[in-house]
Amino acid sequence: MNIDSIKNGYVIDHIKPGMALEIYRILDLGRLDCHLAIIKNAVSGKMGKKDIIKIDEMIELDLNVLGYIDPGITVNVVKNGEIVDKRHLELPEKITNVIKCKNPRCITSCEQELDHVFKLTDRENRVYRCIYCESKAK
Ligand SMILES: [Zn+2]
Repeated sequence: MNIDSIKNGYVIDHIKPGMALEIYRILDLGRLDCHLAIIKNAVSGKMGKKDIIKIDEMIELDLNVLGYIDPGITVNVVKNGEIVDKRHLELPEKITNVIKCKNPRCITSCEQELDHVFKLTDRENRVYRCIYCESKAK
């Protein structure tokens, strides 16, 4: 893996083609000042094509959110220009304020300050349900 130009930070690898910009948006990477690269449609032996995001800064990376978006993603942790850790993600048991409950009768739609919390209820089928009203996440 080519991690050129990344000294201390992350290389987020094995992103499904086309998902890099979505991840950029969800993780709000636009707020960062550091060197950041998005590579779209890189050639991948395993996947055919993949997207990669390189971030040259040790930011707080929310692995739960990444795991929710796509548990197939690999996060390489880079220190002093070398990969020191490879994190394989999985679907998180719980996600907070990543998706919103769409049920108009859910308590979260009238109580604005409540966190939107979803629990994984069916790992095989990737089903998440609102902890308040049990609505399925779309
Ligand atoms: Zn709800």
